Order: sequence, then structure tokens, then C-alpha cells
Amino acid sequence: MERRTDSLQQRLLKSQQYVIYAASLTYVLFVLLVSLVNPASSGPQTFLLPRFGLALLLILTSLAVWAMPQSMRWIYLTAYLGCLLAVMTEIPRVLGADQSVLQLFLWQSVSVLISFLILGSRWGLGANVLTLLTILGSLMLRGPFSMAQLADWLTVCLTLTITTYVSYLVVTFIEGNLLTHEQDQGKLLAARQDALTMVYGRGAIEEELERAMSYSRQHNTPMSVIVTDIDHFKSVNDLYGHATGDDVLRAVAKRLRRAVGSSGGMVGRWGGEEFIVLLPGLAKPEALVIAERLRREISGQPLADLDITASFGVASYRGAYDTADQLFGRADQAMYEAKNLGRNAVR
Ligand code: GH3
Ligand code: MG
Ligand code: MG
Repeated sequence: MERRTDSLQQRLLKSQQYVIYAASLTYVLFVLLVSLVNPASSGPQTFLLPRFGLALLLILTSLAVWAMPQSMRWIYLTAYLGCLLAVMTEIPRVLGADQSVLQLFLWQSVSVLISFLILGSRWGLGANVLTLLTILGSLMLRGPFSMAQLADWLTVCLTLTITTYVSYLVVTFIEGNLLTHEQDQGKLLAARQDALTMVYGRGAIEEELERAMSYSRQHNTPMSVIVTDIDHFKSVNDLYGHATGDDVLRAVAKRLRRAVGSSGGMVGRWGGEEFIVLLPGLAKPEALVIAERLRREISGQPLADLDITASFGVASYRGAYDTADQLFGRADQAMYEAKNLGRNAVR
């Protein structure tokens, strides 16, 4: 059930990755273009050196993010500080050569947006305030310079301040909404979950059964269900108490979930000590194999220190006129046959 809540986070991570790749690629193209268009300034004493350094840093950043997307924040922060160093070395050159500050400013504006996207509101604000202070600091240490230069730099600093402020407001707003969304999703999930066993509750699994049935009907694909009921569960309660009975229910649900695992199946608690496993896309022979695996999984090792077994009934979708009730009925019937055969069996 965790997959649903993760998806938004996963999507955000993916977009952050793509933004880093895109920005790095664009900057590398920019550097290549500048050195092609303006070969006169390609000596090492000009602006090329820090630019090539920065391009290399961005390529390395992209590779690191590609290899370790989970550590993206730290990789990005390290790269950000590297860029800041490059900016600090670039400023004296720009001032000394009386160059236009426009290009530097353009890239810095892009960097404001990206850093908020990757770092979030708080760290984004920190990084950008640090950048502004660094630019202002380097300027003050450099002075004096011409009025035209002063006007340019003032424009750069003011525009960056505004971009930072607006980005901060937008990102805070988005984060607030994401939080609310996450809380809503959590409540929704809790409402669909069985509180004791953490698998789908009765209502939710019934919904999923209907959904899987109509999918099979529309696409003419197989599907199966397994109904399972713990053997002699009443005596567990009677002999060891209700709390131990609850432990057994939790452990059974956990093993069912683990054993169904990668088959794409869904586990739900139908009621009491009866569970249902939905197997969309699987026909009877495959479902029987899975049911046998579940049976062995439960009877194989003690559960909550007790030897527990369960009986299993399997039924499969029969075509357009089959209903969810009928399908469940056949699986339940098969499960009772397994009980009559002496329990701990699959039918
Ligand atoms: P069989 O092998 O025929 O299934 O025998 P059984 O004892 O498992 O069958 P029965 O349906 O008679 O017993 C089910 C018991 O499950 C009765 C009820 O007290 C117990 N039960 C139902 N829900 C819960 C629960 O949430 N917690 C606990 N501890 N026991 C429960
Ligand atoms: Mg039972
Ligand atoms: Mg029962």
C-alpha cells in the first residue's frame, strides 16, 4: 500500500533530476557557443577558464545526481558552493575588464529558481542570501568603479533580491499545499487500511475487487482471488488470550503481504480471521501456485511462537457474466472444501 503515497515524492525527485541535467547541458552548450562565437577571448587569461571550470563542475554534478539521486541535496549544495567560488573569482575579472555583467546576472537568476526547487524554501533562501552577500562583499572589496558599473551591479543585486523573494513566497506556498496533500493522503490511506493488520480493510478490498473485475471484463484478461481462513483460530484465543490472537492476525497479514510481494497482488482483511488476496492478471494455475506458496509461508515457521496453519480457496474470473459476488463465493466454497479435507490445504 505504500506505493501510492510515494508517487508524488518520486515525481518531485525525478523533476529535480531533470532540471539539474537540463541546466547543466544548457550551460555546457552556452560555454561551447561563446568560445565558438568569440574565439578572441578564448585565452586562459580571459573569462573562459572559470566558465570551463563551471561547465565541468556541472557535468560532474549531473553524473553524481544520476548515480545517487537520494543524495541530490548534498550534491547540489556542494556544487552550489563551487559555483559561488567561481562567481567570486569572476567578479574581479568582469570589473577589471569593464565587461558587461549581464551574462553573469542571467545565469544567477536561473540559479535562484533551481536552488529553491532543489533545496526547498529554507535552504533555498539561505543559499541565495549567501550569494547576494558574496556578490555585494566582493564588489565592496573591489571598488572603486565607474558609475555605469555601479548602476549595473545595483540592478543585478536588486533583481536577484526580488527573484529570491518571489521564489521564496511561491515555494513556501507549494510546500504548504504539498503538506496538506500528504496529510489528506495519509487520512485516506488510514481509512482504507485495516487498523489491526495494516492490509486493506473490508470496504477498500471490496472496491479493489470490483475494480479488478471490471478491468478484466473490459480487457478480457484473467484474474484470480484467494480466500484464506486461519485454522482453529478460536482455540488460539481461548488458550492464549485475545492479545495473542491479535498478534497472530498481524503476523499472518504480514506474511501474506510478503509472500504475495512482487506478483502485483493485493491483500485485504475480509473480517475476523479471514483474508482475501486479489491477483489481477493471473489465471487459475498461477494462482494455485501462489496459494500453495502462501500456505507454506504460514505453516512453515511458528507465528507469534505458535504453530499456525490456514486453509485456502482459489477461484478465477470466468468471463463477462461473472460477478464479484460469484467469484468470491466460489473461492469461499473452495476454502471450505480445504477445511473439510483436514485444513492446512489449498483447493
Ligand atoms: P476453523 O478452522 O473452522 O476456521 O476454526 P476457527 O476456530 O478458526 O473458526 P471460527 O470462525 O469458529 O473462529 C473464529 C474466531 O476468530 C472467533 C473470534 O473470536 C475470533 N476473532 C475474530 N476477529 C478477531 C480479532 O480481531 N481478534 C482476535 N483475537 N480474535 C478474533
Ligand atoms: Mg478459522
Ligand atoms: Mg472464520
